[in-house]
Amino acid sequence: MKLDFLQKQTSRRDILRGSVTLAGSAFLAHLFPATLLHASAAGYAPQSPSLADLLASMRAKFNAVPMETQKLADNVTMFDGPGGAVAVLNGPDGKFVVDTFVAPAWPRLKDALDALGNAPVQYVIDTHWHFDHTDNNAHLHAAGATVLAHENTKKRMSEPHDLPVLYRGPDGALAGLHFDPSPVEALPQQTFTDSYKLQANGETLALQHVAPAHTDSDIYVHFEKANVISMGDLFFNGMYPYIDSGTGGKITGMISAADKILSLADDDTKIVAGHGPLGNKADLTKARDMLITSRDRVEKLKSGGKSALEALAEKPFADLDAVWGNGIVNGDQWIQIVYLTL
Ligand SMILES: [Zn+2]
Repeated sequence: MKLDFLQKQTSRRDILRGSVTLAGSAFLAHLFPATLLHASAAGYAPQSPSLADLLASMRAKFNAVPMETQKLADNVTMFDGPGGAVAVLNGPDGKFVVDTFVAPAWPRLKDALDALGNAPVQYVIDTHWHFDHTDNNAHLHAAGATVLAHENTKKRMSEPHDLPVLYRGPDGALAGLHFDPSPVEALPQQTFTDSYKLQANGETLALQHVAPAHTDSDIYVHFEKANVISMGDLFFNGMYPYIDSGTGGKITGMISAADKILSLADDDTKIVAGHGPLGNKADLTKARDMLITSRDRVEKLKSGGKSALEALAEKPFADLDAVWGNGIVNGDQWIQIVYLTL
């Protein structure tokens, strides 16, 4: 168990220079005794003014990823890179854009959309409230688009949120991540509670809310004719997912959502993951099975009376980490996320 990073004092410059990874809201309080948290107060400072810089550094880190364009069907294109994946239905009725990347990627997103043709963006669909999916809502709305999302996306974006972030810099440190309420021009103009259908360009987009999974605001978007399903962060392809317990995330919901999509998909379905490469039914099946294994193992430890810290010490995912632990969330963080979202 690597806890040495907790006790090291790291300068703010080092914090900003290093990589940032998310972990479940409030897990710090569950995982680490108060004395240990106090001992590491220099690294964990949720009230610090540097939090805005930390969020900026996360945006910059996501933005550093190159953007790749991949055609998924005649009129459906995926842009993959700066903070996830964007899927676009394009045609004479206009563009319909699912998710929006992080704010600094706006010039590249705009150029990529313009390169598809002159039709205006009619709709922007947010798969959930997180910044790396909604950051460019305001830009696209200013260009004439209607932003459409589940009602909880608007609710969550309208509230302040403090999400603890497990940060590991070169020397390691812990810091929190604060979100102010989004400005009104960034909020969805149109919301729905359960499902919604859009028909355009000879395609039907079926939007479906799922029970709390990655957050309580998740939807997936099924491009029915093109046989493409955009899952947002209900699917991290090839890596442990982040689950946001601070806004209602549940691992059981992640499993149910994967099962639901698997029931809709065939062997030719292209499945757009919130993070990771374009996936298919086999990839999603592997991710679903990993979620089930993770849930079962941590549930056993938790129901046996182990604390999150004790569960971590058991190394329940030692056989999974090499495959799944090299993305946004590492193996130690994943144990804590599962523990908190059971
Ligand atoms: Zn997310």
